[in-house]
Amino acid sequence: MKVVIVGGVAGGASAAARLRRLDEKAQIIMLEKGEYISYANCGLPYYIGGVIKEKESLEVQTPQKLRDKLNIDVRINSEVKSINREEKSVTVHDKAHDRTYRESYDKLIISTGAEPVKANIPGADLKKVFTLRNIPDTLRIKGFVDTNKPKRALLIGAGFIGLEVAENLAKQDISVTVVELSDHVIGPLDFEMASIVHQHIKSKNVELYLNDSVESIIETDGRLDASLKSGRVITSDMVMMGIGVRPDNRLAVDAKLEVGKRGGIIVDQYLKTSDEDIYAIGDVIEVEDMITKGRVQIPLAGPANRQGRMAANNITGLGEKYPGTLGTAIVKLFDITIASTGSNERTLKSAGIDYEKSYTHSASHAGYYPGALPMSIKLLFARSGGALLGAQIIGYDGVDKRIDVIATAIYAKLTTYDLEKLELAYAPPYSSAKDPVNIAGYVASNILKGDLEIFHWDETDSIDTNKDMLLDVRPQEEYEMYHIPGAVNIPVTLIRKKLDDIPKDKNIYIYCNVGLNAYLAYRILKLNGYENVRTLSGSLKTYEPALMEQSNEDIFEYDRIKKDDEFVKVGSAESGIKADVDIEVDACALQCPGPILKVYENIQKMDYGQVLHITASDPGFEKDVRVWCQSTGNRLVDFKFDGSRFNAYIKKQLPEKRSSESPDKNDKTIIVLSGDLDKAIASFIIANGAGAMGRKVTMFFTFWGLNVLRRNERVKLKKDFLSRMFGIMMPRGSKRAKLSQMSMLGIGDKLIRNIMKKNNVESLEGLIEMAIRSGVNIVACTMTMDLMGIKKEELIEGIEFGGVASFLGAAENSDTSLFIS
Ligand code: FAD
Repeated sequence: MKVVIVGGVAGGASAAARLRRLDEKAQIIMLEKGEYISYANCGLPYYIGGVIKEKESLEVQTPQKLRDKLNIDVRINSEVKSINREEKSVTVHDKAHDRTYRESYDKLIISTGAEPVKANIPGADLKKVFTLRNIPDTLRIKGFVDTNKPKRALLIGAGFIGLEVAENLAKQDISVTVVELSDHVIGPLDFEMASIVHQHIKSKNVELYLNDSVESIIETDGRLDASLKSGRVITSDMVMMGIGVRPDNRLAVDAKLEVGKRGGIIVDQYLKTSDEDIYAIGDVIEVEDMITKGRVQIPLAGPANRQGRMAANNITGLGEKYPGTLGTAIVKLFDITIASTGSNERTLKSAGIDYEKSYTHSASHAGYYPGALPMSIKLLFARSGGALLGAQIIGYDGVDKRIDVIATAIYAKLTTYDLEKLELAYAPPYSSAKDPVNIAGYVASNILKGDLEIFHWDETDSIDTNKDMLLDVRPQEEYEMYHIPGAVNIPVTLIRKKLDDIPKDKNIYIYCNVGLNAYLAYRILKLNGYENVRTLSGSLKTYEPALMEQSNEDIFEYDRIKKDDEFVKVGSAESGIKADVDIEVDACALQCPGPILKVYENIQKMDYGQVLHITASDPGFEKDVRVWCQSTGNRLVDFKFDGSRFNAYIKKQLPEKRSSESPDKNDKTIIVLSGDLDKAIASFIIANGAGAMGRKVTMFFTFWGLNVLRRNERVKLKKDFLSRMFGIMMPRGSKRAKLSQMSMLGIGDKLIRNIMKKNNVESLEGLIEMAIRSGVNIVACTMTMDLMGIKKEELIEGIEFGGVASFLGAAENSDTSLFIS
């Protein structure tokens, strides 16, 4: 038998190797148009980043090795130009000798893969605009980076490959901007899970734009200006497009093989195309989705390899059926791992499958054993019967094994009830006696059995707290630091004593940090006769990231990192500090604000000049400890994630050193209580002036002052009656601001604006824009926003949100605090 294989990488090389193991006599010819066969596509981003050092490591097999070991006739630089089905041959162009010939076959396997989609926009073909598919692409990108030392890179598309490249460029001190068309990164995730990824990307100072796209790229003086649909222009030294791949189906289309709507070759269960003697495998085919039974394209190495093996089996008559795909995928992004299997909500909805979902947040292993890190699991399951339909997991450690357990469970058609019973390996360094997968099973099964009624993060805002009760059952100090607007605090430990404060005739919506305490409170209420009780699935750990700002636009444009997104950069000279550590504290088992309270307790006990090394597993610790050190004047000398724990090294500073080392004591703080035009103008003129003198300025807008920050256009949002009334009664935006005196039904306001224009004084809007551009820290008071029912979406871009602590923190470093009322 003579088998010809087109394409010599994942699928093609697997098929060739398996075929040889099954049939020693078969004549196997592998035709590859490129120079390399069987290389590690999946390792390419890591070669660009220097994690994989040798190019040779990427070459899993060489033509010579395949010839020697497996007696395969490997022909590189040999492009198949056409398939001649009638005479069962392919036409091959041998590039090395520039000759074309025909090669006959008994059976043909097509494994031509998928090619990166290049956006059809002006500038897409510029030399500094790259795509990544193979080793030559990789060498081009790495060569460019090594030679030209780019300072800024633009990544178009935030899929697996785009984000892997983003990380590998960012780690080489390149400022990376990612622009993504949809509202979230990594397509297989649902929005709220992706929001956890967004926060992580932001914490790494990667600039992220969502809901936007690049419309053109122009090269000027060696720099690339990419114009976005939103009107922004992003300047960079190189652009990488990672907007997806499309099946490399030219041969199949020309040969009139059956091809699906999305371009994938249609194959039967035996991976046979519409031609009896032609098989197709890998990224170029469409396969059945195991959950929805629809046809999908899954460009992943695992399926390509398995299909290669199966096609070989079937050519030799083993008659093996391809079971379909779950699309199980995983990716590392900086410190976190993101994985998914089966369907997400989008695909379930479009397939009309009735599903329910649960969120659980567990530790990667026993909390008392050092290094336990959080892991968020979203489970999707059939509302009736509990069949598992999909999962998405994000965490720092052990994500790979949990997604594989769930993928196996889905494959084996297990249900949420089975997840509860799975007997999984446990010892403290690896897991907990109740593994995160068991926990996900318990929670999902409780929901299905009616032992736990839930509501979801996106339903929270529609709770009318005048009619219903939103109950926060966390400790009081946590509630005071942050809570969902309108929530009442009764810690879970006090619920039994305070039943009189919880009305039986209202709907009670309970939340806590991760869901466990809310569940305990729920059970107490249920067993005390309360009927209408529900808990927030995943509680704040799911709700908060989804409600936070998802992008961090313009962080490079003005050479300014928003305070909120600043990453602690510590001098490498300080890295030797570890040897001088005086106190070691392990705060790994503690959730926010536990680790920061530990910092406070220990610093109190220490002498000046001593160094505290504290480890935590709560990712929020990174931001908290930085802010804490800034506001207390202590010094964060190093911060790093060691793969399992966050490590902060804090030096207790002498009081006099704190002031002499703190150059920011001449900051200015302006509290704007008024929304009057003249007062707002004065505030911004002072702020811009102080900014120009190199002073750090914080403007804190509260009460009527908030109106100045409202967008001038109406923003449609769901609100309760009172908030809507408030919104209507208050002037919306700077353009509607009136003079505090002599407004004269708006005549005075117009007059002053005209006078300002004549005298070349910037308008209020211009002053606001100038302040944002020059890095004035504009903070909207969240407490007032809650009171007035103003939502973040109603306020202008480029501002921050904070409470009294933000103001006090800024005021401590200021020598002047102005009240504009
Ligand atoms: P390929 O491996 O792409 O091989 C197709 C080959 O066919 C190519 O070498 C091509 O030159 C050749 N060819 C095409 N047309 C012709 C022709 N007319 N004549 C001769 N030869 C031809 N998947 C994962 O599961 N995990 C990962 O982490 C991961 N990371 C990735 C990172 C990158 C940068 C890339 C590009 C892909 C990654 N993938 C990953 C995807 C994975 O590599 C593919 O799914 C897999 O390689 C597909 O195998 P294939 O055989 O279908 O196609």
